[in-house]
Amino acid sequence: MIKFLDLQKITQKYSEEIHNAVHRVVDSGWYLQGKENEIFEKNYAKYIGSKYAVGCANGLDSLILIFRAYIELGIMKPGDEVIVPANTFVASILAISENGLKPVLVEPNIDDYQIDDSKIESAITNKTKAILVVHLYGQCAYTQKIMNLCEKYDLKLIEDNAQAHGCQYKGKKTGSLGDAAGHSFYPGKNLGALGDSGAVTSNDESLIKTIRSLANYGSSKKYVFDYIGKNSRMDEIQAAVLDVKLKYLDEDVSIRQEVAKIYVKEIKNNRIILPKIKDWKSHAFHLFPIRCIDRNRLKEYLEDNEVQTIIHYPIPPHKQKCYKEMNKLSFPITEKIHNEILSIPISQVMSKADIDRVIYLLNSWK
Ligand SMILES: *Cc1c(COP(=O)(O)O)cnc(C)c1O
Repeated sequence: MIKFLDLQKITQKYSEEIHNAVHRVVDSGWYLQGKENEIFEKNYAKYIGSKYAVGCANGLDSLILIFRAYIELGIMKPGDEVIVPANTFVASILAISENGLKPVLVEPNIDDYQIDDSKIESAITNKTKAILVVHLYGQCAYTQKIMNLCEKYDLKLIEDNAQAHGCQYKGKKTGSLGDAAGHSFYPGKNLGALGDSGAVTSNDESLIKTIRSLANYGSSKKYVFDYIGKNSRMDEIQAAVLDVKLKYLDEDVSIRQEVAKIYVKEIKNNRIILPKIKDWKSHAFHLFPIRCIDRNRLKEYLEDNEVQTIIHYPIPPHKQKCYKEMNKLSFPITEKIHNEILSIPISQVMSKADIDRVIYLLNSWK
């Protein structure tokens, strides 16, 4: 069986260092808000190229906290609108609606699945306060045109970098391109913890201070509460593990890029559409999505041949029951992608034999 993602093997690669890190925390007697968080936050901010990073409980919280902090700072208010791609993972949109803000969905490009920057301006109203770009599948969604729109209309640019650790735009890491970025360290992400955790990066000191407080019951001084906050903190154990894996992130991402290059070069089946890559460094290949009109049959065929695949995602957010008010909206490109997309195995621990097997199966599929 070729697994979609072999997490056991991914952890095993740095097993000794990870075990040492976990034991260090266990033996320290200090499990929250300590040295490990401080060190990881410093190293992660440096890696991304932001002034600050603050750890939190998960990726969804990182995005929720960014919008919440902008509300607390008086920059946004409930009812304001946030532009977001229609074909994202639901968490991007949950972070907006959780704060009483209104998600305004925009279609993606059909060739790279990222938000179509030519369709953003017509979605901007006098209530629009931010654009949330999602580097979906690990590919950079940021464009100069999006930045220009943010400047022209005085909008915050927020990045959902949950899938894109290691992705670059012209030599800069995604997560450093806008006003703030949310990051997820869910185990299956490019930089994955051994459980849940997340982080916010930004150069904005007052935003980071507000988030730090909001994530700690709304308190910046013990038993003094400035906001109606929440408890969203990163465990010391997760911080220690992430700090080990961060050292190898670029190496791991470059192996993913090599696997992707082999796929792009060798998958030759005119019924299968490969992702369009403008620049190899601008894709961290969290996923390798292919498209096929006969997607469900292709998935079954691969399963019958012992290759696991996953659909990211089967139902677009605007068709979900939780967003009834959006169910009648029509986004044909988004819907087409959701009907045809299929993620095939890709990782830094995939063997050459497994890569070749996947290619062979795809090329011989009729
Ligand atoms: C995983 C993910 C999130 C949420 O991260 P969690 O850590 O699972 O809460 C948000 N946005 C995108 C695009 C994701 O893929």
